[in-house]
Amino acid sequence: MSIYYNPIIETMPRAELEALQVRKLKELIAHLGNSRFYAEQFKEMGLGPESVHSLADLRKFRFTTKKHLRDAYPYGLLAVSKDECVRLHASSGTTGMATVILHTQEDIDHWADLMARSLYAAGVRRSDILQNTSGYGMFTGGLGIHYGSERLGCLTVPAGAGNTERQIKFMFDFGVTVAHIIPSYALYMASYLEKHGIDPKTLPLRIAVIGAEPHTEETRRKVEKLLDVKAYNSYGLSEMNGPGVAFECVHQTGMHLWEDAYIAEIIDPETGEPMPDGEVGELVLTTLDRRGMPLLRYRTRDLTRFIPGQCACGRTHRRIDRVLGRADDMLIIKGVNVYPMQIEQVLMSIEEVGENYVIEIYNDGIMDDLRVKVEVMSNHFVEDMRALRSLQQRITAKLKNEILFTPKVELVQHNSLPVSEGKAKRVVDLR
Ligand code: ADP
Ligand code: ZN
Repeated sequence: MSIYYNPIIETMPRAELEALQVRKLKELIAHLGNSRFYAEQFKEMGLGPESVHSLADLRKFRFTTKKHLRDAYPYGLLAVSKDECVRLHASSGTTGMATVILHTQEDIDHWADLMARSLYAAGVRRSDILQNTSGYGMFTGGLGIHYGSERLGCLTVPAGAGNTERQIKFMFDFGVTVAHIIPSYALYMASYLEKHGIDPKTLPLRIAVIGAEPHTEETRRKVEKLLDVKAYNSYGLSEMNGPGVAFECVHQTGMHLWEDAYIAEIIDPETGEPMPDGEVGELVLTTLDRRGMPLLRYRTRDLTRFIPGQCACGRTHRRIDRVLGRADDMLIIKGVNVYPMQIEQVLMSIEEVGENYVIEIYNDGIMDDLRVKVEVMSNHFVEDMRALRSLQQRITAKLKNEILFTPKVELVQHNSLPVSEGKAKRVVDLR
């Protein structure tokens, strides 16, 4: 059995892959003439399909931003008539008003193919039974994963979000081998197993597909250990369909971004200029296969970098590093730039730390400061004040080492911090 879902596309030599991108980009620019938003822009700038000869010509065009999508809400960016569309999805609205994307039947088919290819790259096969623990509403992690799993031929269990007891019952009853689960919920599920004395080794699960929210390598390892699975990172955003944009293969060395379907750029978020290869910047994506609502040079706000070199799996599509967070996630405290992921990285590397934490930003009357509330695993939440005090000091010192100033660290009992359904809310601004 091939290790590739689509061997020709996945291992296409770079020169051919880039030629394919240029050809598709030309077609895209022609098609975008049907979108009032883009048509006006192209006219004003004197651009058209004839302006595209190489990938570098993409930079002649302007960026599309979340604000453009919000201003054009809901139908303003369509490139086909509404009658041709069969599906509408929205973003989770993590950073404000949700944006919507419409899909034609052809778009849905392409997306299912990309998703099937992604799952296959992570080692999922048609003999697997996949349980999807994402909400099945407007959120793309529901139907997006679902269609891909079915396309691959997996028996698919549309469990939906929440109700951990039922999720685990399904896993045992149906012999579920693959779960799609966001990392914060995976950790929550692990603590549920622990609390109820269920040995993760007795679960039939072998793979967890985790994504949709930033998480660190330490969190992945924790999920793998506590659920006794291999966990693979999955990246996507509703503006680019949803999951299936970039996915880890079994080597777990970054996520292959499917370059036959997207053109990826990494830019300096301040200047908009391309970053030198391998350096962190904002990911900008262009859809190559979408008919209903294609987007040109969409600024994702997500910070990542291209991983240099080739992957051992033989796929030629470049890999992106795990997403550090959104450009807007950066906190400036005491003049220092801090990303929440730096804090998570430290916390998840400490064995006594549980799965949940909250970063509070507050003002002490003079300046802004950080307080990190950390859950401690129940077997470590001992009565021994000295042991707790020393744990707190250890966490504080490690955090200081990473973020270069000393945050307040408060230890709290296991399962005492609020859990959100859907993406975790780790930062609370009390200012
Ligand atoms: P919203 O932007 O409202 O959360 P989406 O549901 O479309 O709406 O979520 C997409 C966003 O989720 C991405 O832009 C990114 O910030 C985050 N995301 C998705 N997958 C990952 C991942 N594997 N790692 C880190 N962040 C991710
Ligand atoms: Zn690979």
